[in-house]
Amino acid sequence: MTTGLAERLGSLPAMDVAGRVDRLRALLAAEAVDALLVTALTNVRYLTGFTGSAGVVAVTADELLLVTDGRYTEQAADQLAAAGVEARLEITGTEQRRIVAEALVDATRIGLEADHVSWAAQRRYEREWFPDTTLVATSGLVEQLRRTKDTGELARMEVAAAVADAALAELRPWLLTGPTEAEFALELDATMRRLGATRPSFETIVASGPNGARPHARPSGRRITDGDLVVLDFGAVVDGYCSDMTRTVAVGEVDETSRRMLEVVTAAQAAGVAAVRPGVDAAEVDAACRGVIAAAGWADAFTHGTGHGVGLDIHEAPRVGTTSDATLVVGDVVTVEPGVYLPAHGGVRVEDTVVVTPEGCRPLTHSTKDPAP
Ligand code: ZN
Ligand code: ZN
Repeated sequence: MTTGLAERLGSLPAMDVAGRVDRLRALLAAEAVDALLVTALTNVRYLTGFTGSAGVVAVTADELLLVTDGRYTEQAADQLAAAGVEARLEITGTEQRRIVAEALVDATRIGLEADHVSWAAQRRYEREWFPDTTLVATSGLVEQLRRTKDTGELARMEVAAAVADAALAELRPWLLTGPTEAEFALELDATMRRLGATRPSFETIVASGPNGARPHARPSGRRITDGDLVVLDFGAVVDGYCSDMTRTVAVGEVDETSRRMLEVVTAAQAAGVAAVRPGVDAAEVDAACRGVIAAAGWADAFTHGTGHGVGLDIHEAPRVGTTSDATLVVGDVVTVEPGVYLPAHGGVRVEDTVVVTPEGCRPLTHSTKDPAP
């Protein structure tokens, strides 16, 4: 394992998990609900440290309740303790509804996470769980808290990004020897795991030549050859936190248009990063990227949003796009990833993940943007 990375992985600073529920309670008051039923597993994890595949959290003014099942008896208790979270833990196979309903018996308005509750589940909560209570559709409450990363969270994301950086540095020369996209993607994933990632943070994209013109192409059996642009979009997960980076590599001699695409997108990406600071509208960051690409005559070839928040989820708040209504604040972690896609030449995308600081922003991803392999 790369020296330095191993040490950083072994000495991750603590996160302030216990403080999160009180910040959530302040938001509940503003929404005029006196309890929130948290059913999105990422939000359950954020509030309690519990990483199991099933569980709900109920938050009231004076209680934090985690209900899960017998598969997680020890894990749930251990993870609550490790996170320093004081919660009531209930383990049940069949009594989940009764336990939660009793915990929320005094609540008059119970919030549900509207973005994560299915229509069927909502009907069940209304008819069977809380027949005498008003249910309120809330949106993005825990997600809003999750935007602001503490130092422990940032440390995890920086190490995740460093793992991805190191994996790419190790494998770049191999691009010259003609691997298939699928082979290169597999090796990137394996290398990130070997360097300490829990898993890739999403399905790795290796898109060469004409395949690069599809922004979310899946790695194929196509052999990477001389004259190709190769879009590499990938990330690592460390202790639940994701990294996200795209680099475009030019293999051998690429044509004049491809070279210009690399220059324009790299300049657009730099303009976007330069626009990131506290108080700026996310739409302005998008406009900064889009302006450079439009000036090059390729406005129609930039077919997606500029970026997104990253954290426990690979895509989270805030969105960075033309219609985004978010304003960036210190502690936000967002990507800046403009691209140009031309079917005859392929694609170029360049992406960094940056954290908003009082002075502007600081990149978490550091791989070279020199397109040489
Ligand atoms: Zn990406
Ligand atoms: Zn991204």
